[in-house]
Amino acid sequence: MDITNRYKHFDNIFNMNGITTRLGGVSQGPYRTLNTSFFGDDDKIAVFENIHRVLSDLKIKNNIIIATQQVHSNKVIEITDDFSFDQMRRIDTSNSALDAYQLYVMPETDGLVTRRDDVVLMTFYADCVPLVYETDDKKWIGTVHSGWKGTSNLMALEAIQILNEKGYKKDQINVGIGQSAAVCCYEVDQRVYDSFSLNYHEELLNQIFLNPHEDKYDLDLKLANRLILVKAGVPNSKIETISDCTICMADLYHSHRRTGYPRGSLSSFISKK
Ligand SMILES: [Zn+2]
Repeated sequence: MDITNRYKHFDNIFNMNGITTRLGGVSQGPYRTLNTSFFGDDDKIAVFENIHRVLSDLKIKNNIIIATQQVHSNKVIEITDDFSFDQMRRIDTSNSALDAYQLYVMPETDGLVTRRDDVVLMTFYADCVPLVYETDDKKWIGTVHSGWKGTSNLMALEAIQILNEKGYKKDQINVGIGQSAAVCCYEVDQRVYDSFSLNYHEELLNQIFLNPHEDKYDLDLKLANRLILVKAGVPNSKIETISDCTICMADLYHSHRRTGYPRGSLSSFISKK
């Protein structure tokens, strides 16, 4: 796995991809230094500079960025060839490092897939699991946000379903599971277990809810996403996990669990070569 200070990327994904760290940016205070979220109170000029640095690192040339306004839903949108950009909100990036870019936000959406050559897909994180998708023929890419709600609702399979409809078999799809809350730090309560039990059999629950103590568990969200993908037919060998924990690796990552608001966000970027 190639690592710069600004992002980590998946070796099994051919197209340009990276999930950011908090290093190498210009944001200040709780957002320091690389915050990629322009939704909060951080200085937008700094955020756009941070995003530009990552896109430059990744050698992404496309200047149409499509980001998600995430609501912990199971909604994954296909950015089609004739996609109507009117349904998205345009963010003003004038007089910033993204001056030459078009930045759009797709409301109430937690994942994006496309075969378009001219866009960059962007999703946001601070402990939730980033999922990145690519078909074997490199023609389709995707990025999906899957927190505990998404994972309990089998969000990882939504993009797989869309790619199946495009004619791809499950063993023709590569998936990356990025840096997120890991089992070392992610304690959850019975309510979370009960949500998962609606969609997960006991055998799976026993593998991901560890160390039960006083109606609490240590939840392995990364493994949960891997297990449901494998159960659906994606080969284990086509799934790559970045094991880093966003909660305890405080120097490297923003974490909602660790700090709450105000905080910065990490982002996943993917764009076709
Ligand atoms: Zn940890």
